Amino acid sequence: MYDPLVNAHPGIGAPHSSSYWVDTAGVAPQDDGPLTHDIDVDVAIIGAGYTGLSCALHLAREHGVRAVVLEANQVAWGCSGRNGSFARISGGRVPLAELISRYGEREAKHYFAEMTAALNTVRGLIREGNIDCDVQPDGVFKVASQAKHVDALKREVGLYNDVLNYAAQFVSEAQVQDVHRGAESFGALYMPDGFSMHPLKLAWGIHRLAREAGATVHVGSPVVDWTSSKGSHRLVTPGGVVTARKVVVATNGYTSTTLNSATAGRVLPVHSQIIVTRPLSAEEKRQTLPGSECMFDTRNLLSYYRRLPDDRILFGGRSAITGRESESPQHRQNLHDALCRKFPALTGIEVDYNWGGWVAVSESSLPFIYRLPELENVFSGGGYAGSGVSFSVQVGKRLAQMVAGDPKPTAVDFLHQSPKRFPFQPFLRMGQRMAYAWYRFKDAQ
Ligand SMILES: Cc1cc2nc3c(=O)[nH]c(=O)nc-3n(C[C@H](O)[C@H](O)[C@H](O)COP(=O)(O)OP(=O)(O)OC[C@H]3O[C@@H](n4cnc5c(N)ncnc54)[C@H](O)[C@@H]3O)c2cc1C
Repeated sequence: MYDPLVNAHPGIGAPHSSSYWVDTAGVAPQDDGPLTHDIDVDVAIIGAGYTGLSCALHLAREHGVRAVVLEANQVAWGCSGRNGSFARISGGRVPLAELISRYGEREAKHYFAEMTAALNTVRGLIREGNIDCDVQPDGVFKVASQAKHVDALKREVGLYNDVLNYAAQFVSEAQVQDVHRGAESFGALYMPDGFSMHPLKLAWGIHRLAREAGATVHVGSPVVDWTSSKGSHRLVTPGGVVTARKVVVATNGYTSTTLNSATAGRVLPVHSQIIVTRPLSAEEKRQTLPGSECMFDTRNLLSYYRRLPDDRILFGGRSAITGRESESPQHRQNLHDALCRKFPALTGIEVDYNWGGWVAVSESSLPFIYRLPELENVFSGGGYAGSGVSFSVQVGKRLAQMVAGDPKPTAVDFLHQSPKRFPFQPFLRMGQRMAYAWYRFKDAQ
C-alpha cells in the first residue's frame, strides 16, 4: 500500500481500492482523463478529494476562475472515497476543554461557528446540486465506552451549552439503549446536527458540480516534480508539464515527503481502517444499532460505527502504523474483536469488506488553511485528523477565497497559521508506536 512517508507519489491512474463504497456507488461521472500535453494555467490544484474539488468548484462558481485539478489516481481515490461517512460539526481532534484553554473562549466560538458553517456548506451542495448520496437522518452520539468516562462527557455537554450556546445533551445509560445496545454503553453525548451519507457519491457529486462550473479534473496525473521560479510553478506529471501562477496543495494525508520541501513534515499520515459486516437480521439489528445515527466512543484510540441502509454495520478505528503493516490481516481481526466486544450479539459475524486510508494529523491536531510563506502564491489546507468530511469541503471554499485575494477568510486565527513541522521526523513512526501503546494501556484500564 502507498505510504506517504516512503513512496514518492500515490501512483499513476491506480483504480480505487476495493470497498463497500466503490461497490455501491454506481458509475463514476466523467472526468478529463490524464493530462497528455503541456499546459499553462492560472490555478493548479493538486489532489481531487473534497478539499481540491470544493476549491475548484468555489473558484469557478464564486470567483470566475477555471482551475485545473491534478489527481494521481482517480477522483476521491484518497480519504474522500474511503471514509466512515460522518458529516459532523468537527475538524481535527482536540477536546473542547483543551481547545478553550489553548485559544480562549472567543477563538473557540469562532471555530465552532466555522465548523457549523462547514456542515451547512455540505448540506447546501447536496441540496442545490441534487447530489444523490443516501443522506441519513441527523444525530450523532459520542458513547461512553466505560462508566468512568460519564463525568467527562457531562462536563463536555456543559461546555457546549454554556460556552458555545449549542444544544448538545447528555443521554443516560438507560436512554441510550434506545439507539445503542451492547456491552460498552454507559451514556452518551448527543449532538442533534450531523449525518451520514455515501462518501464516494458525495465526492463524485462535488466533482460533477466543479466540472459543470468550468473546472478541469485530470486523473492519472500525479505531480512527480515541482520547481518554482519568479512566481511561476512548474508541475511535472507523466503526461505533460503544468505551468501555473498559483498552486493549491490539497493532498492532505496522501502528501509525500518529496512533493515539495515546503509542505514536507507538516502532517503525520495516520492509518484508519474500516470493516463492513454482512447484513444483520432483524433481531441482530434490535440488539445492536436499531437506528442509523453516527456513533463513536470515548476511547483514546476511538471506534466509529453506524448501521448502513442495507443493515450492515460499518465499524472503523485506528490500525497499522506503516503502509506495509496495514496489509496484515491482524488489523482486520482487531477491528472485528472490538466490534464483537461492543456488540456481543455479533460474535463471529462475517465481514464482507475491509479497507483503510491515511488521515492527516497536524502537530496541533487541528486543521490549517494557509498561504505558504516559503513559496510565492501557494496555498494549502488539510490536517483534519480523521474528522474532515464536512470541514474539508469548507476548507476548499476558504482556499478559493484566499486564491482570489482574501488573506484571511475566516475569523479563526489559528486556522491561517503555518502548521508547524513535526520535530524529530526520522523518529515519527517510533513516537507513534509508543503513543499507541500508551493509549491502548489507558483504554484497557
Ligand atoms: C478510514 C477513514 C475514515 C474516515 N472517516 C471519517 C468520518 O467518518 N468523518 C469525517 O469527518 N472524516 C473522516 N475521515 C477523514 C476524511 O475522509 C478526510 O478528512 C477528507 O476526506 C480529506 O479530504 P482531502 O480532499 O483533504 O484529502 P483526500 O481525499 O485524501 O485527497 C487527497 C488526494 O491527493 C492525491 N494526491 C496525493 N499526492 C498527489 C500528487 N503528487 N499528485 C496528484 N495527486 C496527489 C491523492 O491521490 C488523493 O486522492 C476518514 C478517513 C479515513 C481514511
